[in-house]
Amino acid sequence: MTAPALSIVVPCYNEQEVLPEFHARIVPVMESIGWPWEVVYVNDGSRDGTMAVMTGLAERDPRVALVNLSRNFGKEIALTAGLDHARGTEGVVVIDADLQDPPEVIPSLLAAAAQGYDVAYAQRSVRHGENWLKRTTAAGFYRMMQRLGGRVQLPRDTGDFRFMSRRSLDALLQLREQHRFMKGLFAWVGFPSIAVPYERAPRAAGETKWNYWKLWNLSLEGITSFTVGPLKIATYLGLFTAVLAGIYLLQLLVRTILFGNPTSGYPSLMAVVLFLGGVQLTTLGIIGEYLGRIFNETKGRPLYLVERHLPSSANGQVAKRPAA
Ligand code: UDP
Ligand code: MG
Repeated sequence: MTAPALSIVVPCYNEQEVLPEFHARIVPVMESIGWPWEVVYVNDGSRDGTMAVMTGLAERDPRVALVNLSRNFGKEIALTAGLDHARGTEGVVVIDADLQDPPEVIPSLLAAAAQGYDVAYAQRSVRHGENWLKRTTAAGFYRMMQRLGGRVQLPRDTGDFRFMSRRSLDALLQLREQHRFMKGLFAWVGFPSIAVPYERAPRAAGETKWNYWKLWNLSLEGITSFTVGPLKIATYLGLFTAVLAGIYLLQLLVRTILFGNPTSGYPSLMAVVLFLGGVQLTTLGIIGEYLGRIFNETKGRPLYLVERHLPSSANGQVAKRPAA
């Protein structure tokens, strides 16, 4: 059995409603391309029937590979697991299971990459089914990352939906950090890249696993794994307050010498104490965010554990398949 040229990697968490539809839509698209291909479904510890749906698909279609993680590890790690198990010799396409990334865009990604690019990433031109708050917070985040990011620049309005050549994938797979902010890792790897605009559809079924708290945490992840900017902010904030305090002290001294001390109020003292306390706690918190990440990295645990892996084609399920 020859290795497939292209692997489609799909992380799935509680996607039993959409998976059959997803598979039904990806098959004609991939067949129209005409390359040997496989689709790697990663079950990220789903609590619903996702695993059963996947095994069903694998039994009926030899091009399905299946990676079942031992529990829910989160999308970024599930995606990594899928990429680790992708056998595509030419490259991989990363896509969400919920059909927000239309599989029909894949041929355009491949066409763009064929012009000599290692990475063709889909860039959202319209965000359907996302409210004003989600759009503005997302825009704000990208702007801040652009400021803080330094040499590594995140492309705007870009998710994980992309084609990656085998060599850029191999480069990406060398990055084994625990705190995986995939958008950032993709950007860090570099290689010639091109944007392909597309319209992001609303979720086909099931519900999003993201809420604002998770998105906030993802942004923290993005910032702390890509820049030490906030640590510098702490330094400058400290310097700035120290200088202000110095000026205030001088002014106090001069005033006391010239006019004596009329004992100015307790409230201003309280305000300064509380303000400085707040600044100190915040900066400690920032240091803590980094320290915690250092702690997690030093443990050197594997990124994920695989409960079961069925490679495509040679997955031992052939006997159960109805004769074609
Ligand atoms: N996902 C996953 N593990 C998780 C959460 C999500 O594998 O812990 C998958 C999910 O099944 C989907 C993709 O990641 O295929 C994107 O998730 P979702 O649609 O909830 O995110 P959104 O599109 O709202 O950013
Ligand atoms: Mg989605």
